[in-house]
Amino acid sequence: MASPTVPAPWCGRDFKPRSFDKHTPVVCYDKPRASVVSHKEYDDKRFLAITGETVQTLVVPKREARTWTMQEGDLCRITVHEGSQVGDLNFWNLENTQERFYSGKTRQLHSSHLKMYDRLWSCLPHLRPMATFVFDSLANYGIDEDGASLHDVIGTRCDDYTYKLITGQDRVGSCHSSLVKAVAEERGLTEQDVHDVWNIFMCTGFTKDTQQYFCKPSPARKGDFIEFVADMNLLVALSACPQGDVSIPVGAEVPDEKCHPLKVEVFRKK
Ligand SMILES: [Zn+2]
Repeated sequence: MASPTVPAPWCGRDFKPRSFDKHTPVVCYDKPRASVVSHKEYDDKRFLAITGETVQTLVVPKREARTWTMQEGDLCRITVHEGSQVGDLNFWNLENTQERFYSGKTRQLHSSHLKMYDRLWSCLPHLRPMATFVFDSLANYGIDEDGASLHDVIGTRCDDYTYKLITGQDRVGSCHSSLVKAVAEERGLTEQDVHDVWNIFMCTGFTKDTQQYFCKPSPARKGDFIEFVADMNLLVALSACPQGDVSIPVGAEVPDEKCHPLKVEVFRKK
């Protein structure tokens, strides 16, 4: 069968199909030194914090967002304490909120889905570790047969603007709108301060044939949790996503029973 010629009459040339040299993939950022932490050092930080004192406990209600602060060395545990639920996290340097989480560079330095001992990096020109992921009760989910995994830094956060683009409907009820409301009411920040997220408990990947973003229902169940250690003083915001456990496709009505709160605890060494 003849290969198709790409028509491009507007530039006066036909682009004939070419063949391309094949190369073996080379990992671009193969674990730079700063991205690799001592497991023992972080296990020790985790132990000291958990055996210290609980400095904060809060519940992020379903379909809402809340903020809290952490000191460097504090440990935060986020628990699916009622039912399956995904969450969207934002991070800022507590002393300078212009320094904030950079999901794209975190994705390049580690991978599309974060694993224990991966770090969360701040934006340029800072590019510093903001926090380190130290425990995941779902770690053995791994990468499934479709290439899906948990806790991605791919998705940007659900928002009402994209919802309208897809459905034509106006709506206020997304991680973006919840985060904007929480940071405005609790911290005096604005919509421009809300940024791309760490998508915890969410199961996502890219289709093998078309490389499109997909999600699966979250495998998180009541009692599952993740923990991270703050590597600087932090302001953190978490949205309990209105997509709930992500078992309903985007655009369809999400029944209330698919949505749950998330519990946040902050521990500090004595
Ligand atoms: Zn969401």
